[in-house]
Amino acid sequence: QTIFVPREVAGNEPRVAASPDTVKRLVGLGFGVTVEKEAGSLSRIPDEDFKQAGAAIGKAADAARADVVLKLRRPTDAELKTYRKGAVVIATMDPYGNEAEVAAMAKAGITAFAMEFMPRITRAQSMDVLSSQANLAGYRAVIDAAAEYDRALPMMMTAAGTVPAAKVFVMGAGVAGLQAIATARRLGAVVTATDVRAAAGEQVASLGAKFIMTDALKDASGEGGYARELTDDEKKAQAELVADHIAKQDIVITTALIPGRPAPRLVSGEMVKSMRPGSIIVDLAVERGGNVEGAKAGEVVTTANGVKILGHLNVPGRVAASASLLYARNLFAFLETMVDKEKKALAIDFEDELVKATMLTHDGAVVHPNFAGSAK
Ligand code: NAD
Repeated sequence: QTIFVPREVAGNEPRVAASPDTVKRLVGLGFGVTVEKEAGSLSRIPDEDFKQAGAAIGKAADAARADVVLKLRRPTDAELKTYRKGAVVIATMDPYGNEAEVAAMAKAGITAFAMEFMPRITRAQSMDVLSSQANLAGYRAVIDAAAEYDRALPMMMTAAGTVPAAKVFVMGAGVAGLQAIATARRLGAVVTATDVRAAAGEQVASLGAKFIMTDALKDASGEGGYARELTDDEKKAQAELVADHIAKQDIVITTALIPGRPAPRLVSGEMVKSMRPGSIIVDLAVERGGNVEGAKAGEVVTTANGVKILGHLNVPGRVAASASLLYARNLFAFLETMVDKEKKALAIDFEDELVKATMLTHDGAVVHPNFAGSAK
């Protein structure tokens, strides 16, 4: 059976869904692997490396022969047309709000898996694309902020005087936020953080940052370790808590997300105004509506009072070479669970909880419980 790995066409995507390491492993499982020409060039993987790992180098139209397509982004209409009926397509599908596109995948007859729905259980840790990519995004957010910041991050005591340490505030201490905290600490900043899940407090403290949370808000943990949306009273209490704090910060990094909902608004225009000129805000949630008032997707906004708001898109893609290696391993780990190693063939167990959690479309229908019925 054959696997195809395209060069991504949507969204200026620099990442690629296979690496020489995973190609070797896929060939070892018995697959023939074709990688589209220059699929890895923006991730620093030359065609030659894929070839040496055992892949054939092909063209986009080779998708038509593939039993499995491994990719980053939900297939475009043009890509869908090239797939054969029954092909398995594994990607991050971004299905919420894109029900028509999900229906189009069903209509094309592909079996589509959304990697972002992988359950956060021990068995699936190696398949967790949200974690592998958010971790790099959290790191890169701090690097981007440091590059835009025209002061130093660490305290420097020199013969010519002392430079104070920068104050960094991280809002949302999940995977991205925790890596942002760790990175800012390594650069010598004084770091504080907040989250609505009480469990995050211990993790923040263990990284040497101070955790900030209101008494009014005991714990807003929701299903599966994610946060739930706050009530209006809770939102008010949170805003009161952080308003004074933000005014004293040099860098604010926001990472807050709620599954299936727009990102919560955490930083108001007033709060942005309260920061001193030269301060930096990085909104990692900008693609999901943003945590920060005034943040613009894909732009660096400078406000009237001289605060820069960074709204970079696809932040993991800004560390593409590292991100691709991890993403490729995540996909390999998942695909491996769907292979009969004796027969060297795909054998999807439709009762497997990983399959149930991630399968969006199959056999002409939208099958995922969150979307079934949205279109037939
Ligand atoms: P996420 O990307 O969904 O959200 C980022 C963070 O924003 C979360 O910590 C969330 O609590 C926080 N947040 C949401 N609303 C907020 C608000 N109004 N104010 C402040 N913060 C807010 O989260 P994530 O990084 O995917 O992590 C979610 C959970 O999953 C965490 O508990 C994490 O430890 C857990 N996790 C488990 C595994 C595993 O067991 N395999 C792997 C990765 C993550």
